[in-house]
Order: sequence, then C-alpha cells, then structure tokens
Amino acid sequence: MKKTESALPLNLRQDRRLSPEALVDGIAKGDCNALSQAITLVESTVASHRREVQNILSRLPARGKSPARLVAVTGIPGAGKSSFLEVLGNQLCDRGLRIAVLAVDPSSSLSGGSILGDKTRMETLSRRPECFIRPSPNSGELGGVTRQARDTIRLCEAAGFEVILIETVGVGQSEVAVRSLVDCLLLLTVPGTGDEIQGMKRGIVELADVVAVNKADGENRPSAESARLSLEGVMEILSETTPGWRPPVLAVSALEQRGVAETWQTVERFFEHLETTGLWDSRRRQNRLDWFRSHIADALHDHFRADPKLVAEWGRIETAVASGSLDVTDGMDELIRVLCLPPSPSNAQSIDTA
Ligand code: GDP
Repeated sequence: MKKTESALPLNLRQDRRLSPEALVDGIAKGDCNALSQAITLVESTVASHRREVQNILSRLPARGKSPARLVAVTGIPGAGKSSFLEVLGNQLCDRGLRIAVLAVDPSSSLSGGSILGDKTRMETLSRRPECFIRPSPNSGELGGVTRQARDTIRLCEAAGFEVILIETVGVGQSEVAVRSLVDCLLLLTVPGTGDEIQGMKRGIVELADVVAVNKADGENRPSAESARLSLEGVMEILSETTPGWRPPVLAVSALEQRGVAETWQTVERFFEHLETTGLWDSRRRQNRLDWFRSHIADALHDHFRADPKLVAEWGRIETAVASGSLDVTDGMDELIRVLCLPPSPSNAQSIDTA
C-alpha cells in the first residue's frame, strides 16, 4: 500500500491532494492548480482515481451558450506544430483569450511519448498567465490516450478556457479518434515530403478542415507554394467531409510569423460555416456519441478485467488463439460465451453460413 502511494505523482499523494469538492470549486473558478491536479488524476492508472474523475466531471457545470473552440493541430514530427502553436497561442492571448494547449500523442504506445514533452519549445507562451500548457502523458494505448484526452478537454472547458488547442501526431488509425475530439482539424504539413498525398497519411488529409503548409520561407518558399497548389488540387477531388466546405490550403511560416493569423481567420470562418449551417450541433452530437461509445468499451473492458476468474479464462483463450490451436473467430465466440453475452448478430451469421 505504502509502495503504491510513493509511486504516485507528487500531487496525487494523500498529503498534497485537494478534496474532490476543492477540485470542483477550483476548476469552476479557472484555477490552474486544481485543473492540473484533476488532469493528473485523469492520467492515473489507479482505478479509484478514475472514479474520482468521473465524480468530478459529473459535478462540474456545463459551459452553456459559449462552448470552447476545440482545434487539433496535427502533422508529422518536425512539421513545426510547436513553433506554430507558440506564435498562434501568443496572438490569441494578445486578443484577450484564455487558451489551453494540450498534447495528445496516440503514438505514445510505440514511442513512450514524444510530443510537447518539453515546454521550452513554447517558451514565451508557457510564461503567459492566460495560457495553460499540458504536455502529453508518457504512455498509453490509443483507447486510453483518447479517453484521457476527452476528459482533459472537458476539465479545461469547465475551467473556462475559450480556445483549446490540441497538438497531436497523426498515426494510422488515430485520425478518426482525434477528429472526434475536436470541432476543427488543422493539418500542418511541410514542403519536400515528396508526393503530397503519399508523403502524409492519406486518412488525415481527408479529415482535415484546414491545411497549412509550414516553412514557406527562405529558399523553401517556391516549393511550399507548389505543395500548397498540389494539395489544393487534392482537396478538389476528395469528397467533402463537411457539406459546403472545401478545406482551404494556406502557405505559412511559423518562423517568420507569416500566415498564422490568416490560418486562424480561416479556422474562424470554418466555425461560422458550422454555425450558420447548423452543422456545429450535429458535429458535437456525433462527438458525444463517439465519446459515449468509447467509454462504454473501456468500462466493459475494466469490468471484465476486474474479475480474476474472467481474467484467467481470457488469458487461456488468448494463449490458444496466439498458438493457433484455436481459430480467432472461435476464440471470440468462446470469450463472449465466457463473458455471458450472446454472440453478436454478425458472429451468429458467420457461424450459420460456415
Ligand atoms: P513539431 O515536431 O511539429 O512540433 O516541430 P517543431 O515546432 O519542434 O519544429 C521542428 C523544426 O522546424 C525546428 O527546428 C523549428 O525551428 C523548425 N521550424 C518550425 N517552423 C518553421 C518555419 O516556419 N520555418 C522554418 N524554416 N523552420 C521552422
């Protein structure tokens, strides 16, 4: 017991912790210490912390008429996401907005956490009182990472931040998960990655609402402009993910602070489009539904994993599937039987027709 306690992050140890009431009060007042501590609970793997988070979230007031603007900035490592956010974040703070910058790293299950690990990459922004910066947690599987991100976003919304910027790397299947976290997905890319659509993951290009080609400065300027044109061509042929909106492609330079304000204006134009067409509500509704479904999956998983008998059976079936002595479909059926659930209709059909 003692050992568990000492392994916890400092602000989760009993003697340093705020009570759930103090956390709810503090967050509702926009207190960044309370917010930080609640986010540490979100990132904790201790089951009682997760319950505490749910309790806090359920007691926090909803944002009502003016929800925060949720924008993901995604792109390959080195595209200039942190540099871009440093410039954009300062511009937004200059306009009197309170902003939160969060890192969501779906690649962390492979890399052990890579982005925004070092706040010094946003040196001036991290010193501004209007800004709250939270680096990514160090590890986790995709489901866990997005669940944590959703809870963290909700806490930041409740703390009154008007804009929440989420820095993220696009990796394989994570794009859809990341898009469902936000209202707008901004893709940051760089010239010289070769064939624009091959060089990046096609999936993320299809899901982007706004695209910015960064590093359009110095001798890179002509290649950035040609990458912009070529991406604009790609956007023409892709089917619209948001009806009535063809994702604009801009050339920008975070280094020279050019095009960053225009990119944000484009993001704001996208929000106007969502609002005037009524798509805003449907997008948030869809996001909430995705959120609910992913929570259900997590909750079921946790529920089954808490039962030692089921864990043993689960392990036995997995070992048999891995060794090839049990077919994957049969293994799934057996596991579902063990979990006392009837087979899903699709499974039933495949058994019938087999
Ligand atoms: P991230 O991994 O996507 O967050 O990228 P960083 O912001 O850390 O930038 C990666 C490298 O690109 C750094 O060396 C930056 O100085 C450089 N960089 C970022 N933005 C620009 C830009 O607009 N122009 C140029 N020339 N370099 C940039």
